[in-house]
Amino acid sequence: MSLRARLTLLYSAVIGGVLLLLGGLVYGLVSAVLIRQIDRTLSQSFQEILSAAQVSVVGGRRVIQLPPLDMASGVFVQAWTLDGRLSAWSSNLQGFNRPLDPVGLSTAEPLFRDVTLGAAHLRVLSVPLQLGEHTVGVIQVASRRNEVDAALRVLLSVLSGAVLLGIVLGGLLVGWATRRSLAPLDDVTQTALRITRADDLASRIPYHGPPDDEIGQLVSAFNRTLERLEALFDAQRRFVADVSHELRTPLTVIKGNVDLMRRMGALDAEALDSIQTEIERLTRMVTDLLTLARAESGRLPLHRQRTDLGALVLEVVGQVGVLAQAKAVQVQVGEFEPVSVCVDPDQIKQVLLNVIGNAVKYTPSGGQVSVSLSREAQWVTVHVRDTGPGIPPEDVPHIFERFYRAEKSRTRSDARGFGLGLSIAYWITRNHGGDIEVESQVGEGSTFHIRLPLGEEACQGRDSRA
Ligand code: ADP
Repeated sequence: MSLRARLTLLYSAVIGGVLLLLGGLVYGLVSAVLIRQIDRTLSQSFQEILSAAQVSVVGGRRVIQLPPLDMASGVFVQAWTLDGRLSAWSSNLQGFNRPLDPVGLSTAEPLFRDVTLGAAHLRVLSVPLQLGEHTVGVIQVASRRNEVDAALRVLLSVLSGAVLLGIVLGGLLVGWATRRSLAPLDDVTQTALRITRADDLASRIPYHGPPDDEIGQLVSAFNRTLERLEALFDAQRRFVADVSHELRTPLTVIKGNVDLMRRMGALDAEALDSIQTEIERLTRMVTDLLTLARAESGRLPLHRQRTDLGALVLEVVGQVGVLAQAKAVQVQVGEFEPVSVCVDPDQIKQVLLNVIGNAVKYTPSGGQVSVSLSREAQWVTVHVRDTGPGIPPEDVPHIFERFYRAEKSRTRSDARGFGLGLSIAYWITRNHGGDIEVESQVGEGSTFHIRLPLGEEACQGRDSRA
């Protein structure tokens, strides 16, 4: 059964229950008021009779003598002696010698009872008649209930009709309201189905209601999930396209050279060199991809050791020095105090190599690269400043994405990388609890800031490499 049907049924049942309860209360109240009215009339009649009643002894027996009982107003009276003899009765009971209420004859207290005699429905008051301390008989006063019964019957049918109408109208209203409030859920279902059928993650669920109610929150959570999924799938698609693109060129070069040698029927040294260069490029790319994949997923194990960051910087500067010299780029290292950090030295070295290597790679001949270290509270930062071409503002937010290369560096040259170096640097720094940022001005150069936590307590008990 649908949620809508279940809610409608539940609410209709609640409405029905409440209406029935109210109807019952009204019916009970009205019938009690009407019966009390009859009872009051019966009590008054009894008092009138009692004030005029007399008991006399005839032939050794007590006889109750009542005033002439000419009850015109539909009130019936009988007087019974204790030994069960009818000693007086109202004229409207002429010829009727059974008790109006057989149970009331033996009562010790005034007793009101409903009695059915043939077709007549009566309300009977039985009161024991006291003489001194002795009970000498019982007087029964009765009245028809027919009018009250008729009124109650009408009331019952009106109330039943009203309850039924209330349930039907309430059910319709609840059904309409539930359909209206659950309609956005249908939209969610339809959109989800459309996405599944058309593989279209760009769809969003339209919702025009208040954004902070339950449905609004569900729709917004669903839309956010779609956004995230769309971004993830886009990134995956771009990644596959980028990898295929990067693989195609070296594979074409290798295939071309192999074809050439096959046609020549001999090995060619130049062709073999070219094949080797491309294979080395491919190997580098696959290694970088593997490192990136493991760093991104946090599966690159961190072998933290107490490490002298200054020494690590000097080691990397020494390694890139060869390329710097070849390009006539001057690399300077600023003065700094020795700083010991708790990091995986091999991974941080990779970060420094990528960033300082880029600075040398992108700085033209005659330019300058300067590396400095600064320390602030629990953080140490490596600043790598160059006088290169700078990074256009539209590229800055993307350079840490995998395979991202600013337009200028998209030409194929030996110095060109795969656009993976900064992504690897970003993820390794993040895995160490640090971050990496860039400030750049086109035409003036760039400065990269690699921030790492000192992590004094994290390395306790580990080997020291510093
Ligand atoms: P690549 O292997 O292409 O250098 P990276 O991930 O290391 O890839 O860098 C991404 C892009 O960021 C580079 O292609 C380049 O456009 C830009 N970039 C990185 N470092 C610098 C720098 N020091 N100066 C100018 N541009 C840079």
